[in-house]
Amino acid sequence: MTTQAIPETNTPALPTGTQAAVLHGARDLRIEHKPLAHLGPNDLLVEMRSGGICGSDMHYHAEGRNGTNVLGQPTVLGHEGAGVVIAAGAQATITSGTPVVIEPALPCRECATCLSGRYNLCPTGTCFGSPPTDGLFARHVVVPESAAHPLPDTIPAEIGAAIEPLAVAVWAVERAQVHKGHRVLITGAGPIGLLVAQVAAAQGAAEIVVTDVNDDRLAVATKFGATRTINTATTPLDLAGMDRLIECSGNSLALADGIKALAPATRAIVVGQAKPTVDGIPLGFLQRYEIDLVTAFRYANAFPTAIRLAASGVVDLQSIITSTYPLEEAAEALTAPVTDPTNLKVLVTY
Ligand SMILES: [Zn+2]
Ligand SMILES: [Zn+2]
Repeated sequence: MTTQAIPETNTPALPTGTQAAVLHGARDLRIEHKPLAHLGPNDLLVEMRSGGICGSDMHYHAEGRNGTNVLGQPTVLGHEGAGVVIAAGAQATITSGTPVVIEPALPCRECATCLSGRYNLCPTGTCFGSPPTDGLFARHVVVPESAAHPLPDTIPAEIGAAIEPLAVAVWAVERAQVHKGHRVLITGAGPIGLLVAQVAAAQGAAEIVVTDVNDDRLAVATKFGATRTINTATTPLDLAGMDRLIECSGNSLALADGIKALAPATRAIVVGQAKPTVDGIPLGFLQRYEIDLVTAFRYANAFPTAIRLAASGVVDLQSIITSTYPLEEAAEALTAPVTDPTNLKVLVTY
């Protein structure tokens, strides 16, 4: 033990380090002590309350990579997180004690893309929990205030991490241009598909068909917005004349089949993580009927809408949360959706 003169102060001592779930390699997640970043004038120190496990976290944990991004150094995982501010930099306007959800994107805010408002596409942008950038599965994190959105009383920080996937759904429905009366096909009833169904219903969709290969997930979809469900493992897709396809499964076949269910002059959107290249997309059909094929990547300016939809109860955040694990059991949390496929959103708590 060393003794140092500590200046007298009225504020309680802030932590200088924290415990975090650090991924060292495939299947090698360690709970470690990490020093905390210096709290800059525009930063917030957040004591985390919830973290959400996403498909990308599961890929990093299982394979040491997600798509083309390979884990090159030990990295704290996690891009879905909420907590309570326990210290604020001198220039920050959010005060200590405020519950916040963290928007994980770290765009440059200076390039033409950022200045156009599409900061989610910033060519040099990084993201919490996307290696090598450390993420949010830690007891404390220091974040720029620009990444924090205050949570209303109706959304406890203990489930606030689920606002992030809801923001994905909000942006997907916005990019899909879902209008009142639309017949919407959603392929994939994972957390994103289930939230997309609720947001599409809020948008006034008249019919919402959800497909998946898992009956448990489809049963959840029926409770939250779906007017019809189809298990495509056992039943061929027999739809026609749909107005929108929102592909949330990452399965190329679901995309190809879903496109063929669309009416002329409609729109398909790729939300689920796409393969680098895909054969079998009916390009001639898309052209013959002028069906727009668009994509969505994360979200831009979608957190405020997501918070509003959850706060008002229009979207039920609890609908996708199936289990919680303490930080010490983060490795179990990262495999839980595979071990038990009835799992939807798994949260880490602190
Ligand atoms: Zn996510
Ligand atoms: Zn930028």
